[in-house]
Amino acid sequence: MPDLNRLVAGLRCRDVLEDLSEFLDGGLPPERVAAIQAHLAECDTCARFGGSVGEIVAALRAGTPTTTWSDARVGGLLARVRARVAETP
Ligand SMILES: [Zn+2]
Repeated sequence: MPDLNRLVAGLRCRDVLEDLSEFLDGGLPPERVAAIQAHLAECDTCARFGGSVGEIVAALRAGTPTTTWSDARVGGLLARVRARVAETP
């Protein structure tokens, strides 16, 4: 189980995951987007989620815009992320 309270680049994984939906929707202010990208670029915990956050992290690191993903794909990823956050103290 990853430690979601780990602090990387000024944000905890938990904070990043809770903002991930708006991040992917483009609804966050630019400074918040930059902070989340900085976290994901350095955070091995988020990268190890695999199939959820890990897929997003890999896309960001490869420079692939997640805005081209289908709503169903993003929705599926976010549902798994939210479930993981909910079950982690
Ligand atoms: Zn993280």
